[in-house]
Amino acid sequence: MESCLFCKIAKGEVGSVKVFENENIFAFNDINPKAKIHILIIPKNHIESIKHLQQTDIKLAGEILLVAKEIADVKNMSGYKLIFNVGREGGQDVSHLHVHLLSADFKGVI
Ligand code: AMP
Ligand code: ZN
Repeated sequence: MESCLFCKIAKGEVGSVKVFENENIFAFNDINPKAKIHILIIPKNHIESIKHLQQTDIKLAGEILLVAKEIADVKNMSGYKLIFNVGREGGQDVSHLHVHLLSADFKGVI
């Protein structure tokens, strides 16, 4: 989606600090961290939110969680939070599906 910030980040058109990338997934540091480590994990293709997931996205949805786990393992996180905000009223500001991976020194609400 052309006007979407996270689509642009996934394509490298907007800068980010990349943490992980494969064919389907991109992960980068949150610009306004709410913990010592705060990473966003997104599908490269534009899906608006968890609300917009379909049966055909089952594999991708699983892959997002496994990538989160792998990043947490590589970074030796002993504990962490995975947060999906869903819809404006669920606190989702960027309308491109993402999971927040947070670890240590949590600050406030995402
Ligand atoms: P949400 O409120 O769940 O939609 O989360 C959106 C997140 O994107 C927030 O934590 C923002 O700090 C983060 N964010 C917004 N713009 C950027 C950007 N250009 N690079 C990295 N993270 C961003
Ligand atoms: Zn997008």
